[in-house]
Amino acid sequence: MGTLFALTLYAPNAPMAEAAAHAAFKRVDALEDIMSDYQADSELNLLCDKPYGRPVPVSADLFNVLQQSLKISKLSDGAFDVTIGPCVRLWRFSRKRKVLPTSAELATARAAVGWQKLRLDSRARTVTLLAPNMRLDLGGIGKGYAADQAMLILKGRGLTCALVAASGDIAVGDPPPGQPGWKVGIATLGTRTNQIARTVLLHNAGISTSGDSEQFIEIGGVRYSHILNPATGLGLTNRIQATIIGPNATTTDSLDTTVSVLGVKLGLALADALPGTAALILTRDDGHERTFTSRRFKRLAQPAD
Ligand code: ADP
Ligand code: MG
Repeated sequence: MGTLFALTLYAPNAPMAEAAAHAAFKRVDALEDIMSDYQADSELNLLCDKPYGRPVPVSADLFNVLQQSLKISKLSDGAFDVTIGPCVRLWRFSRKRKVLPTSAELATARAAVGWQKLRLDSRARTVTLLAPNMRLDLGGIGKGYAADQAMLILKGRGLTCALVAASGDIAVGDPPPGQPGWKVGIATLGTRTNQIARTVLLHNAGISTSGDSEQFIEIGGVRYSHILNPATGLGLTNRIQATIIGPNATTTDSLDTTVSVLGVKLGLALADALPGTAALILTRDDGHERTFTSRRFKRLAQPAD
């Protein structure tokens, strides 16, 4: 998944810890084989390579993560769109060439994007792509899903005091022994040095931050994020970092991307509308940094320092 997965856990002894960690990493590897965009033979890519218009049976994992994706698309009116693949490919190409796609290239890509063109049948557990040249992209939700699944493996072995971090997407279980929660730092906007803006205390939750500090392209003096606005097919040009706290990392991973696209007003409203969910949004406008928090942020975050 192009990132480092780190586990922190408490166990009665080292062999139990090692066996559990091994099993959790094995689960992550298996999920990578399913969800990867970079592996040509991942289940996801093989699905997209099939002729469109016909139902394709898929694994329970792929079905689950696509189902979660569609749920967020509906909630966000398409700000999150797992069918964004053709535009993501154009974006990567632009990054290499350092030029924006032509309007013809964009139009072709956008014709193959749209969550309404993705049909899921939960009884038959099949996926149907309804238009030609569609590509699904789990870059905005897959790491959170994998973190949650790794946590389930640890909990299944009775190791409930654990933290699974897939860079910006983190799942936390029960607190470390004798402590109220796991301390998670949230970096400031646009720093590469891991300067911490806030620290929060969490247990049995997910937390994700998406920003443009690591991946962006600069073309003609304009900075484009790797988070794309499905309405234009282009990367966001406003500087925004969204941190979401929620019931699990699948939810928070998909929502940090979603809230970045929605922007401050709609993004905070979405966080307020979802149970057990809170958002911290940092923006930079003409050098002015601003901080916004959703209704539940203070209570859910329980500031550590
Ligand atoms: P990261 O943790 O890698 O920064 P994010 O959670 O911010 O990831 O998601 C960014 C990734 O999501 C992009 O690299 C791309 O694969 C995918 N993506 C970009 N825009 C959207 C969108 N509007 N809806 C769904 N997925 C998107
Ligand atoms: Mg995300």
